[in-house]
Amino acid sequence: MSNIKVSVHEGDSLELAAGSTVREALGALLSNKQRRQTVAAKINNEIVDFTTVLTADTVLTPVKTDDAEALDVLRHSAAHIMALAVREIFGENVKVAIGPAIENGFYYDFQRDEAFTPEDFEKIEARMEEIVRSSLPFTKTEMSSTDAIKKFGAEKEPFKTELIQELGRDSVSFYHVGEFTDLCKGPHVPNTSFIKAFKLLRVAGAYWRGDEKRDVLQRIYGTAFFDQKALKKYLNALEEAKRRDHRKLGRELELFTMQDEIGPGLILWQPKGAQLRRLIEDYWKEEHYKHDYELLYTPHIARQALWKTSGHLDFYSENMYSSMDIDEVQYQLKPMNCPFHIGVYNSGKRSYREFPIRWCELGTVYRYERAGALHGLMRVRGFTQDDAHIFVRPDQLEDEIFNILDLNLHILKTFGFDDYDIYLSTRPEKYVGSDSNWERATEALKLAMEKKGLDFEIDPGEGVFYGPKIDIKIKDQIGRSWQCSTIQVDFNLPERFQMTYVGKDNAEHQPIMIHRALMGSLERFIGVLIEHYAGVFPTWLAPVQARVMNITDSQIDYSEDVYRQLRKAGLRVEKDIRNEKLNYKIREAQVAKIPYMLIIGDNEKADGTVTVRLRDGKNLPAMSIKDFVDKIRAEVVSERGY
Ligand SMILES: [Zn+2]
Ligand SMILES: [Zn+2]
Repeated sequence: MSNIKVSVHEGDSLELAAGSTVREALGALLSNKQRRQTVAAKINNEIVDFTTVLTADTVLTPVKTDDAEALDVLRHSAAHIMALAVREIFGENVKVAIGPAIENGFYYDFQRDEAFTPEDFEKIEARMEEIVRSSLPFTKTEMSSTDAIKKFGAEKEPFKTELIQELGRDSVSFYHVGEFTDLCKGPHVPNTSFIKAFKLLRVAGAYWRGDEKRDVLQRIYGTAFFDQKALKKYLNALEEAKRRDHRKLGRELELFTMQDEIGPGLILWQPKGAQLRRLIEDYWKEEHYKHDYELLYTPHIARQALWKTSGHLDFYSENMYSSMDIDEVQYQLKPMNCPFHIGVYNSGKRSYREFPIRWCELGTVYRYERAGALHGLMRVRGFTQDDAHIFVRPDQLEDEIFNILDLNLHILKTFGFDDYDIYLSTRPEKYVGSDSNWERATEALKLAMEKKGLDFEIDPGEGVFYGPKIDIKIKDQIGRSWQCSTIQVDFNLPERFQMTYVGKDNAEHQPIMIHRALMGSLERFIGVLIEHYAGVFPTWLAPVQARVMNITDSQIDYSEDVYRQLRKAGLRVEKDIRNEKLNYKIREAQVAKIPYMLIIGDNEKADGTVTVRLRDGKNLPAMSIKDFVDKIRAEVVSERGY
């Protein structure tokens, strides 16, 4: 056999027989210490593992334990180890399906008549621990699909058989670890000892292939890391996320509810949640007005023909609800607001002098989501976008994107978000509009971000077919990222709706349209806000800012009076004048996370004051009602900006 030259990127090289594996190559090229930190390797940006056979000259870039890509390899390998443990403990009563790495961990789907219990988890983890300690290597073989189907048929593994049939390849690859063989294309860690820290997290039902008509399998979720410290940090973060879960807090704080009778994914805002939403909406509208936007209101349904013109019927219909017949004409619920804003645009002749035209709307749209995908406020079927459409001349694009970013980041900052990741998505393979327009628009987006001093990453080819876009992911108090804002240039709809304006040259031109949402949807944004603040809203956003509470019945009248005065002053106040112990009232107000408790006893009544207690337990000295009102107003101004 001939020899090949294998080298490590920016490192040594050597001659090996063709057909050698990455394991052999790295074994010779790396020091022991380097090898212990090497999880896999990259060849031309593709991750391969130690089993990969080298047949030509190759440059290997080691993937080390601290590389971001290494975690996926580790976690997918952990899924194999879990399956091996489950197999060893529960034998052939368990059928295996699939086990990928996912964000933050891995899962494996099993079919088993009995449910997996917490005791089972302990057993599985204990067995996994032993497997990890035995440093079992991952090895690979190839087999013809016909033989593989026979093999899995004999082992009565219907899911694997189905997967191979569907792959339709001549041959398939298998990975072996211990006594467990799995259909898999890899890559994996060199051996099980790399999995220094892991934990099984939970079990949930999952349909085979996500198909609601197929078998329900048991999906065991777990996570794995290269060290215990990282695992511990992650588990703490999970606990913290549970504490902040907006569905739990939404219930406890009486913000919103969903009911079967209404329908899944449809939100009922309770008074406190509605108050929170109103505060956000008012602020949003005021900020937009200050930044030269005009407000629009548009209907919830439109003739089907409109959705034909807009292209939604052809490209978006799986997200739209079925049509309804009104006077023998078909209408459909809106999945987007854009065509309505275009309708306003086309209601008159437009001149270049009017530009930029900035129209915004809190527009409620309806989109189909699978029942299984619905999640609290984060994924719903009816939601209100904080939408805006801006119409500009090509020469205005850069300045306008700058303005949008400015307003966008300003509003996010007011809500407590000043850490974010920004992405610029460029032209995909399929697109409309001319190449020169795409280039100019992409350049304008870039320049605007640079001018604003923003760091951004480029997502090549990830733009929408109608134009390039900027996406902003905000980071919450515990470092989680949430996709919220999007700014999209559109060359498509102006064409479809034959939008024009009269230019300086007196000729008709086509405007550029920008779609923009800051929060994305109010529902989702409020979900994020609840988790961001863990329900402890700043004073400007707190649905209830203060609760008045008396100590004994002799202060009821004065308490009522204080309550009335504060309400008149525009504060969001409640009163608790029940015949209950003060400590009990305080505890309830703390659970409700109300920023201020106003405690009224005989002294306060005599002096015309209130004693102020904060939700963290601190007390402020007694103050007059006017001083309290001033204090709250000043706080709101400092938090909100005015
Ligand atoms: Zn695998
Ligand atoms: Zn739009």
